[in-house]
Amino acid sequence: MSIPDTLAIDGGEPAVTIDEPEGWQRPVEAEKRAVLDLLEEGAISGAGRGFPLEFEERFREFSGAEYCLTVDHGSTAIESAFYAVGVGPGDEVITPTVGYIGAYAGALHLGARPVFCEIDPRTLLPDPEDVERRITDRTAAIAITHWNGRVCDMDAFGDLSEEYDVPIVEDAAHAHASTWDGAHIGSVGDIACYSLQGVAPHGKPLAGGEGGIVTTNDREYYERQLSYCHLHRSGLNDELTLDPYEKLDWEALGLKYRAHPLALAIADVELDSMRYRARRRIAYRDELFRGLEDLPDVRPVWPYGKSETDGLYGGLKIVLDPDELGVSPERFVEVLAAEGAPVRGPGFSYMEHRRTVFEEGYDLWGKGRSPIQGEFCGLPPYEGYEEGDFPVSEDLDRRVLTVSSYIEPEDGFVDQFVHAFEKVVERVRR
Ligand SMILES: *Cc1c(COP(=O)(O)O)cnc(C)c1O
Repeated sequence: MSIPDTLAIDGGEPAVTIDEPEGWQRPVEAEKRAVLDLLEEGAISGAGRGFPLEFEERFREFSGAEYCLTVDHGSTAIESAFYAVGVGPGDEVITPTVGYIGAYAGALHLGARPVFCEIDPRTLLPDPEDVERRITDRTAAIAITHWNGRVCDMDAFGDLSEEYDVPIVEDAAHAHASTWDGAHIGSVGDIACYSLQGVAPHGKPLAGGEGGIVTTNDREYYERQLSYCHLHRSGLNDELTLDPYEKLDWEALGLKYRAHPLALAIADVELDSMRYRARRRIAYRDELFRGLEDLPDVRPVWPYGKSETDGLYGGLKIVLDPDELGVSPERFVEVLAAEGAPVRGPGFSYMEHRRTVFEEGYDLWGKGRSPIQGEFCGLPPYEGYEEGDFPVSEDLDRRVLTVSSYIEPEDGFVDQFVHAFEKVVERVRR
């Protein structure tokens, strides 16, 4: 390493001079045309026919899954997936504390108790060994999230699923373009749930404002999801073929979670560029992480070897070793910010066991009827959580940083960004 310049925080020149690194722009005109076409046709409601059905077929093919259904949100995609796999009152659902409430709220509202687990420090994804220790005869699902598009260890979770006969519900809200062992995740697991929330390039990898998708390779899961929340879908009864779903009338179980066609029209345009955007973000990750890799006490977080995808939503992760660095992660971020290097943290956005509702429990439906307070439908008394229950996740929470990933970064940005890290590491370690 060359002799470092004076830190910007001490009055030196900032290392990063490019403040708008993202050069990619979303195709607004194409989005407008797609929306206006449907408006002019008057095709702005309905499901199971016309454009919404075409979109489902397109995403189904894209994902390699057998079945695909669109819904109004990622959260309802996940809720309907829990229903599909048979989660109900008195069940337990294992999910990482470094998680997100949307990944398991659906199970909670179906009467199941979330049981939190640790993450694998290498990838920051749910740790299959820790999950296995928490499986009981009440475990009805394992809910895993492919954070930032990094794919959970699908081999290990597939084995657990088989050995204990527990379905895996994948929160793929960040992972529409993610692969495992060369195949799209939709073709790998049993059931995957995607969100269409936000707007490109910062929204979910496939964004249409609000919306969701479920893909599955299991006919029964498909029919259960249809019966649960696709009120008045065209062709519903023809699609309900298995016992007991085939005996339902055309209003089935009555919930209506269908997607808005205009949201799907925007997502359909974004699907054209999704593989390109994913490839570019991965290339950015590779260049950045290779630049950082030789720095002491700074560890770029790579995904498992069977999946190269990352940074598709919410950025890339870097873990510090503050004891060796001799500086707190908070100070490290502050010094980097002065260099013009945008870094968020330290900390994960979410530590689910530290929320008041889960620490103290909560009377969900009132009158003492709750999967997270006292006893409920065969569940043992709820014990709550406290600081220290998840030492691996809590330790990482104190020293994990997030950096953005870009599709078309301005020329020279990566070099400037890496230089900022080099400067700061070299200076603070003295
Ligand atoms: C966005 C998101 C969801 C839920 O999606 P919505 O469409 O916002 O309901 C679930 N899990 C994760 C990890 C998410 O980021």
